[in-house]
Amino acid sequence: AQNSILVTGGAGYIGSHTVRLLASQGRKVVVLDSLVFGHEGAIVDEGVELVVGEVGDRELVDRLFTEHKFDAVVHFAAFAYVGESVTDPLKYYRNNTAEPLTLLEVMQKHGCKTFVFSSTCATYGVPESVPIVESNPQDPINPYGRSKLMVEWILRDCDSAWGLKSACLRYFNASGSSADGKIGEDHDPETHLIPRVLMAITGEISHLDVFGTDYPTPDGTCIRDYIHVEDLASAHAKAIDHLAAGGDSVRCNLGTGVGVSVKQIIQAAEEVTGKEVPIKYGPRREGDPPQLLADPSYAKEKLGWEAQFKDVHDMVRSAWSWMSGPQKGRYEK
Ligand code: UDP
Repeated sequence: AQNSILVTGGAGYIGSHTVRLLASQGRKVVVLDSLVFGHEGAIVDEGVELVVGEVGDRELVDRLFTEHKFDAVVHFAAFAYVGESVTDPLKYYRNNTAEPLTLLEVMQKHGCKTFVFSSTCATYGVPESVPIVESNPQDPINPYGRSKLMVEWILRDCDSAWGLKSACLRYFNASGSSADGKIGEDHDPETHLIPRVLMAITGEISHLDVFGTDYPTPDGTCIRDYIHVEDLASAHAKAIDHLAAGGDSVRCNLGTGVGVSVKQIIQAAEEVTGKEVPIKYGPRREGDPPQLLADPSYAKEKLGWEAQFKDVHDMVRSAWSWMSGPQKGRYEK
């Protein structure tokens, strides 16, 4: 059984929800997080050890492997601001592509051959067709997407060379928070649509800028596939079990298969909160594909995984419970 798990970036948004799930399944979880973007407060389980450090710190990672004899690594640690990746590509290639090489080398040394990787629908670039299936061409349009795609390639080569089994999980738009409201999304700066819509409602920002109303979509705004963070978490647990059972390396989309426009998100937020969202319609944001929508059937076939939340009202309600709850959507610094 894969019971001793190293989770890098486990104090981040998707990582922390996954850590809670893995811990609740009785697995021994060690989190390695630099806390550059992660939050100490996002680790809420007593039994989970948080080690503050870098994935590229060979001595540290080696010591952790010797001590804990990990069966598997779930690798979230990465930078994820697309705009910043365009202005500072080396930061992204260093952190997202180069640093994991050290982690993989240490895994090889210790004979750990199970790796679950946070990939992204950004590896597809502007899709030729939607819904996106895994065999769609991967042609990312920014350094962030390329920094992730290169790791997918590295993982394939490690499989051929030394039998590393990996699951590349290509996330669509992560959203929502834990059902009990203890952990949730806290990015600084926050660029994502759902939290920004809710911040416009609480008054934390003066209004929401809608980036583009002239897209070739029914209402002119971009369409995305919003996937609940707890659904993402469960896919990681299933991916570990798939690989532990001797399954082949896999690359899967994680989405709902439901496309939702920016205007539909705003409407859902107004319905959920009973408040109006102050809006300004503006120009397109550079690099935004008109439509990103997953065909999630392969993940169901290979991992037995399927999104439980399919109605975006659930994602918005869950994000709102975190943002309007005691922590007001922020961890203590
Ligand atoms: N968006 C927007 N205003 C915002 C933030 C996002 O109109 O303040 C739009 C963005 O252009 C995209 C969608 O909302 O079409 C989702 O953006 P987000 O940054 O949440 O995720 P992405 O799809 O870029 O990963």
